[in-house]
Amino acid sequence: MIDLEDPLIAGYLKRLIGEDGITLIQNMPDGEVTDEEICNVLNPLKTVSKEAEDKVKKLKAEMKAVGDNPTEIKRLEKELKKAEKDAAKAKEASAEEYEITLNTVRKILFILYENKFTICRRERDANSGWLTFRWQINMDGIDYQIEREKKKLYRNLLKRKAYEDTNIFYACPQHCLRLIFDEAVQTDFICPVCGEDLVFEDNELFKQLIDGRVEEFGEMPK
Ligand SMILES: [Zn+2]
Repeated sequence: MIDLEDPLIAGYLKRLIGEDGITLIQNMPDGEVTDEEICNVLNPLKTVSKEAEDKVKKLKAEMKAVGDNPTEIKRLEKELKKAEKDAAKAKEASAEEYEITLNTVRKILFILYENKFTICRRERDANSGWLTFRWQINMDGIDYQIEREKKKLYRNLLKRKAYEDTNIFYACPQHCLRLIFDEAVQTDFICPVCGEDLVFEDNELFKQLIDGRVEEFGEMPK
């Protein structure tokens, strides 16, 4: 399994699939599962509530079909009463549960699939013709993805450093914007947003910050 404590991995996955997606990965059942099965695992209280409601429905249908056997009717009535009570309790318990909807689960699975982090097998039901998708997570490719992300981040840092090195900056004291010298000349050193005078901005500290980040990468192939 992948190390979600690793800030690079955690950050990458959060950008890719969000908190809900990370929850999904952490709670993914073993083996091949359908999107609905995943959804049920992610919403345990709502699943209990749904099952309780199904039981009520089933008993109501049985009542209709029972005919006029008094003992059977009595038994079913008793069972239904209990099932309804259970369903109401389960519904109340699940009301506060944070919900990850089936739609969200599908979206996450699709993004993971596009990034080759899931294996999907289609199965057609011989009778109904329905297609069932069975999913399995495989995060083996994550190291490669993280390496790519790192290289991208590194390149961006170098680009940013070069930009900071080769320009002189003027900024609005109200934090509206920051312009390079040529742009500031064009606005007569006045903030085009709020009208304040722009002031020279020393970016030495910022450049040191970038240098620090670059150093953290150590030896990085471009
Ligand atoms: Zn301004």
